[in-house]
Amino acid sequence: MAELSGLQVFKYLPASKKAENSNCKKCGCPTCMAFALKLAKTQVEIDLCPYAPEELKEIFSQNIKKAQKEILLGSTHKTKVGGEEVLFRHDKTFLTPTALCIAINTDCSDFENKLEQVLNFEITRINETFKIDVIYLKGSKITPKLIEKIEACGISTITEIPQEMKEVKEETFAQTVETLTLTRRTAIETKAEEFSNPTYVYFKHQENLYDLCAKASYYLCKYANMIIFEDFCKEILCSLLTLRQNIFTDPQKPLQIEPKVYEFNNPDENAIIFLTTNFALTYFAVANELEAIDRGSYLIVTPSEGMSVLTAWSAEKITAKIAAKAVEDSGLYNKVKVKKIFIPGLLADMKDELQAAIPNFEICIGTTEAYLMSDFVKQLDF
Ligand code: SF4
Repeated sequence: MAELSGLQVFKYLPASKKAENSNCKKCGCPTCMAFALKLAKTQVEIDLCPYAPEELKEIFSQNIKKAQKEILLGSTHKTKVGGEEVLFRHDKTFLTPTALCIAINTDCSDFENKLEQVLNFEITRINETFKIDVIYLKGSKITPKLIEKIEACGISTITEIPQEMKEVKEETFAQTVETLTLTRRTAIETKAEEFSNPTYVYFKHQENLYDLCAKASYYLCKYANMIIFEDFCKEILCSLLTLRQNIFTDPQKPLQIEPKVYEFNNPDENAIIFLTTNFALTYFAVANELEAIDRGSYLIVTPSEGMSVLTAWSAEKITAKIAAKAVEDSGLYNKVKVKKIFIPGLLADMKDELQAAIPNFEICIGTTEAYLMSDFVKQLDF
């Protein structure tokens, strides 16, 4: 059921009909309109108004119902699945990353080897480290000690798949996508109980790795809550975890990196100093270029709320004052012979002000795009 705006809520309240109890303040708000606006934002409970009609109460009881159940997997270490509220991430954000699960049979001859591979697997992307979320233990040699060992590594264990989860059978690719999509769509749009169970896809057979990776990627985006693999393939898992990190970030909060000084190619006193903002994509574009340049360099990354250079400049998240403070905190003055700092070409307008703020460095204009940095550096005369 669609959520109501403040104005739509107001139409149900006494003041909209000029009824007897209009603006009586019993709800703690000065007017019915004020109450309606708060109620629409779920900042107050509907029961505070003794005159709210049953029809409005029914709408709100539907709206607070969860579209998808939330299920916690594991005994001590918990992995959450489900609890999604929107069909498209830009409507709000996806809340619970698709859990990646490896099924391991304790009776198999290579059990120990496979377990160690899974436990030791981790990747770091944009300052976040990821591991497998869940191990599905099968076979006759499951012990409390084994479960304890796995969960101590930050991985949840299950010995059976919870009944509240719905398996979407891996049939043809199109059928699987259709079932996953219809299940999620119906759950979000109707909040019907029978569609509220989180879904999973179980890849039981070894298949072409490219096909497996492509299918799992699609199911991760639309709309499996958990994907189970019989085989451990770290290349596929690296791809899926990287994709998942992108899909399950809040689209209103840009990925950012820690503001500090980063070093490239063992910088010495002949190093070049660059400066940029802490938007992750900006950082990695610049970092890739600096790694490829045959010369040491420092990159001062400013605290700019994860905004790209031009956006940060427009929003005053990078100013001469912020940049000057980052330069001062960097402690680079005594580490380099040539006291020059190259700022992004897009910040050219800031040059004079920054120069006035840090007179002991010469502020120079760098390139407007990261890919131009290599040729730019070749032309420097120091
Ligand atoms: Fe309006 Fe109900 Fe609040 Fe009274 S209690 S002001 S009728 S919303």
